[in-house]
Amino acid sequence: MSEVIGVVGAGTMGNGIAQVVARAGYRVVMRDVKDEFLERGLAAIEKSLQRDVEKERLAADEKDVTRGRIQATTSLEPLRDASIVIEAATENLEVKTEIFKSLDQITPRETILASNTSSISITKLGAATSRADRVIGMHFMNPASVMKLVEVIRGIATSDETYEKVRALTEKLGKTALDCQDSPGFVSNRVLMPMINEAIFTLYEGVATRESIDGIMKLGMNHPMGPLTLADFIGLDVCLAIMNVMHEGFGDPKYRPCPLLRRYVDAGWLGRKTGRGFYEY
Ligand code: NAD
Repeated sequence: MSEVIGVVGAGTMGNGIAQVVARAGYRVVMRDVKDEFLERGLAAIEKSLQRDVEKERLAADEKDVTRGRIQATTSLEPLRDASIVIEAATENLEVKTEIFKSLDQITPRETILASNTSSISITKLGAATSRADRVIGMHFMNPASVMKLVEVIRGIATSDETYEKVRALTEKLGKTALDCQDSPGFVSNRVLMPMINEAIFTLYEGVATRESIDGIMKLGMNHPMGPLTLADFIGLDVCLAIMNVMHEGFGDPKYRPCPLLRRYVDAGWLGRKTGRGFYEY
């Protein structure tokens, strides 16, 4: 029997990570809180694997084998068998703290508990457990099935052994691990999010239209996607949560989320996933 890897959360990132892990030959236990979220996650995996078959990047029988490796569940119990659990639930400290506490109770002491958080302190998540040496950040990029980078974040107590295991797993998944220390937003979002936030400010202040802002960054800076399109892709709630963590964590007004970003999140216009953000889908 192959090794089991747990994934907590079946949303945008969780289902992408489950797919990557299953394709690398591991058995996956994917946990979410409601069956409908699991069904949505499984449908996204199915669609993505089917696209790979059509583009001849995956054999049709391999698709079924990959899909067959993923067990979806609302129970925490089956995560007991996992050698590593990758948490990809909602970007909220209370939610993640609760999850880490439960995982600490139900999994064996050796199990590594990793978080795909975009900005929350790995040190804080480690402190919610009795095994801070085995808690680490494993930050996949969106879409997880395509993007090569995994930003690996070491909390204050993360051991070298845990880091080495996660780095080796990242390579087995066909990704590249680049490491950094625990700091709000780590490296990726500390650099990316202020740019997105600034783009939202230019829209808010009427400096340019959404098309023009995105076009300027695409054509002028060779970015594959404009910042407003990218924000819709990431999820505006996720962007706001990350800006809030950096604003609070550094206490520096330069990380103040744009009021327009707040307003859109209040309206439930969260980007692609809700059909409306800076653009309509
Ligand atoms: P999402 O809203 O699409 O999915 C989150 C999922 O977590 C939901 O299905 C929700 O039901 C589930 N969930 C909430 N509480 C849970 C619990 N106790 N147990 C199991 N599942 C639970 O969010 P997302 O975009 O997939 O983000 C997930 C994590 O990945 C966040 O920490 C986010 O910061 C990070 N991340 C997001 C992106 C991105 O581009 N969206 C990129 C990298 C990292």
